[in-house]
Amino acid sequence: MIQDGNAPFWYIYDSSNADVTAILEQGAEAGVVAKGETIEELAGEMGVDAATLQATYDRYEELAAAGEDEDFNKPAENLVALETAPYYAVKFYPTTFGSQGGVLTDSEGRVLNDAGEVISGLYAAGEMSNRYYYNENYVLAASLGLYAVAGRLAGAAAAADIQ
Ligand SMILES: Cc1cc2nc3c(=O)[nH]c(=O)nc-3n(C[C@H](O)[C@H](O)[C@H](O)COP(=O)(O)OP(=O)(O)OC[C@H]3O[C@@H](n4cnc5c(N)ncnc54)[C@H](O)[C@@H]3O)c2cc1C
Repeated sequence: MIQDGNAPFWYIYDSSNADVTAILEQGAEAGVVAKGETIEELAGEMGVDAATLQATYDRYEELAAAGEDEDFNKPAENLVALETAPYYAVKFYPTTFGSQGGVLTDSEGRVLNDAGEVISGLYAAGEMSNRYYYNENYVLAASLGLYAVAGRLAGAAAAADIQ
């Protein structure tokens, strides 16, 4: 993603999993998934060079048969041969889903300074304080409940500190 901006990449499937194939068929009917009976036909639907895709596919099959990915180090358990026609290709775009910032707090919403000490009388909750909980990864759809609780905790801490 850093090298190529948000240039898309393709993910190729075969038809060995009936549940996945049923979903891909819906995508193909809607015109958002490329489908081909052969790799060459698939390349045509994808709008990419057929010889390059065939060579890429053949090399992947060779590595899958050998059980070791010397090119990209894909774990052996995921190195599955794609041999059941028809084949499908889905275009993916790498993207940044969200970013997180805010100030560091303790578990009660008291804001901390660089040394990790409480700054007296300063409290934070919600997005402003998410570093304590999320650290580096955004947890989908967990914010509203978490921040309602964080607000209550910070309010309770402020009330307790005043007394
Ligand atoms: C499109 C979208 C979808 C989302 N979907 C989900 C979801 O499905 N589930 C989930 O859990 N979370 C979801 N979130 C995240 C969630 O909505 C937020 O994390 C949460 O609302 C943040 O709460 P908050 O109280 O920290 O901030 P906010 O809700 O942003 O509250 C901050 C408030 O402060 C006010 N304000 C700003 N400056 C001042 C000022 N100077 N003086 C007075 N008031 C001020 C603002 O007007 C605002 O009302 C979604 C967010 C977005 C944008």
